[in-house]
Amino acid sequence: MRHTTKQPRANRTITIDFQNEATYFQLLGNRKAFLECVLAFILSIGFQLAHKATCRGGGCLTRHSHYVRVRLGGVTIWRLQCTTCHAVFTVLPHFVLRYRSMRPEVARNALLATHGGLSLELCAIICHLSPMALYRLICALGQHSLVTVLTRCGLPLPTYFLADEKHSHCLTDKVYLPTIVSGRVLWHLGYTEDASAVAFTESYREFQRAASQQEPSYRVKGVLIDGFDSTSKSMRTLLPGARLGHCLRHALLKLPKKLMAIPSPVRKALRTRFHTLWYRVRRRKHLRVFALGQRLRHFVEHVTATAGAANGARVRRWFHEKKAGWYAVLEDPRMPVTSTLLDQAHNAMERKLFMMKGFHHPKGSQQAFLTGLAHLYNLVPYQRRAQHAGQCGVEVEGGRVPTCDWFLNLQILTSGGFR
Ligand SMILES: [Zn+2]
Repeated sequence: MRHTTKQPRANRTITIDFQNEATYFQLLGNRKAFLECVLAFILSIGFQLAHKATCRGGGCLTRHSHYVRVRLGGVTIWRLQCTTCHAVFTVLPHFVLRYRSMRPEVARNALLATHGGLSLELCAIICHLSPMALYRLICALGQHSLVTVLTRCGLPLPTYFLADEKHSHCLTDKVYLPTIVSGRVLWHLGYTEDASAVAFTESYREFQRAASQQEPSYRVKGVLIDGFDSTSKSMRTLLPGARLGHCLRHALLKLPKKLMAIPSPVRKALRTRFHTLWYRVRRRKHLRVFALGQRLRHFVEHVTATAGAANGARVRRWFHEKKAGWYAVLEDPRMPVTSTLLDQAHNAMERKLFMMKGFHHPKGSQQAFLTGLAHLYNLVPYQRRAQHAGQCGVEVEGGRVPTCDWFLNLQILTSGGFR
């Protein structure tokens, strides 16, 4: 249960969709048909098997051995071996979960309820299982990194992304979840016990490590942050060449807090004027940074004239701190402009973590648990009245999932035997 440094045991499990259980049991008696069915499925989802490093993967597979799993009600599971590199692949039919006696239908419903924000305890009650079994299932899914699963879906590593930390609690201690979002997909959901730049850097480095393993030449061009000191420090350490931008929507929201002791209509009028300023600058095609610098200066003069020198000075100081981050957003049209999608992801996580206080204990496997929840966030389709009804975040971002069944996708994408 503890968060150990031990690597999850290298496994070459592959989940195969046999459509229905009867087909699987029929095929068990037919060596050739079984192999063909397995290979046809792997071909259809466009994946490759993870052979040993020395093998070019051209080797044929032969049915190697079989064994009976007592825990799974005596279901026979076949293992296939590559004749060239002798790597052994364990073929799990779609209706069996690795190392678990839980039926997939039960796991599917329990995970969906969890994703919807129901507490582990209540999910467990409606699905007749123990809360700990559900917790362990989510942690098992979380053994596979987000980067691995997302790149398996054909998503390119994000060149521009949003980064921020969610503040949360583990019992009474404050904890932080460093997060990377690109569009509707979570690329990193970490866990740290302090808010220092060192701790955040360590967490974001895990993403960078996983990404570089996938693509050694991976470089980030731009990151949108909310301006928190530890975040910007850790980004500068890890991604020295990337542009660091500050969210423009936050700029609009923050302005009223900088204006003190003035009548509400004056504050409102200034806010509207500030809004127009941003709108005009963003609409420009050229010299956007130059235009923003000029307009910010004029705006400070206007604040001084209408709201007094103290407010004018406060706004000037604020602009001075933030403007480099705003310029960074305007300099590159591909930079994300607001962190709205990251806030949405954080709100979704907040609902789940809030409901799970009982499992949010200091000795739990926080990192694996969070990664498991993040897989659900990326792969569970949106409900039918949503903007992207029926699609999951990965699909909205242009990724491809192996089948039209999200739970089967989760099983396949977190299988160890695919490359
Ligand atoms: Zn091989």
